[in-house]
Amino acid sequence: MMDLEQKSIKRIKLASEMSLQHYGKPLVCTYSGGKDSDVMLELFKRSGVPFEVHNSHTTVDAPPTVYHIRKRFGELEDMGIKAAIEMPKYKGKRVSMWTLIPQKGMPPSRLMRYCCQILKETGCANRFIGTGVRWDESTARTERQAYETISKVKADKITATDEIMLMNDNLEKRKMTEHCMQKNKMVVNPIIDWEHRDIWEYIRSERIEYNPLYDHGYSRVGCIGCPMASKGRWKQFADFPTYQRAYIRAFDKMLEYLQVNCKKNPPRWKNGYEVFLWWMEDKNIEGQMDLIEDGFIQ
Ligand code: SF4
Repeated sequence: MMDLEQKSIKRIKLASEMSLQHYGKPLVCTYSGGKDSDVMLELFKRSGVPFEVHNSHTTVDAPPTVYHIRKRFGELEDMGIKAAIEMPKYKGKRVSMWTLIPQKGMPPSRLMRYCCQILKETGCANRFIGTGVRWDESTARTERQAYETISKVKADKITATDEIMLMNDNLEKRKMTEHCMQKNKMVVNPIIDWEHRDIWEYIRSERIEYNPLYDHGYSRVGCIGCPMASKGRWKQFADFPTYQRAYIRAFDKMLEYLQVNCKKNPPRWKNGYEVFLWWMEDKNIEGQMDLIEDGFIQ
């Protein structure tokens, strides 16, 4: 455990040095309100490096998560650490999941996770950031490479054992790397090799305060209704019914949009509730969602 902690702190220190050198700004600890974020934040604090904290307000986090984030950020500010919550924007305007769905004309799905880009992966352009990505939670583990050099110039300075990687997992690694470089965002994943039990052991042994949802039957916390949560969404909506109503209202508005804009091939649902039921059937898993048949594309 100590080894893991020290290894992660070493990664943070190295990334911090590079951030200060390359950008002239401190490393940013991204924070979502989940257990991995709390562990990473603790490691940032223990590393002794200067850092800032950033949270993307997704607009679909459960209230206990939002309160947990606010509480944490209040504490950080009291410690003199800059902690910012960023509100999402789309086409220059403030947006939420409920206003985004009608604009996109379809519910978010496993294949169409448009909301992540707009609501979750906001901010931190031209910065070096830390994320709580871990191999044992990544669906693309086999395709991931643990460490990546950052650029030709930087490559000279990074040895094979240095432990930096870009936010470029998965099959499109090369493309993502280039995209990151264009946006000049660099990423370190300090806890990439921590396993689920390491996270909990550390939280318990170091008495780290965590999101109360974990004590209420949640093994993961995140956006309520996220299509990636599959069956877990039923519990989420049972616990937070106002979110269900908000999705249904958003689907109603989405249908209004489709009725006006897809006259030739109007959607087959009568109302937002019907869309909700279809969406919750979890047919929209990979390979099964048919955008034409299901009335989203003409
Ligand atoms: S609902 Fe899921 S896919 Fe959408 S922003 Fe949240 S995590 Fe990403």
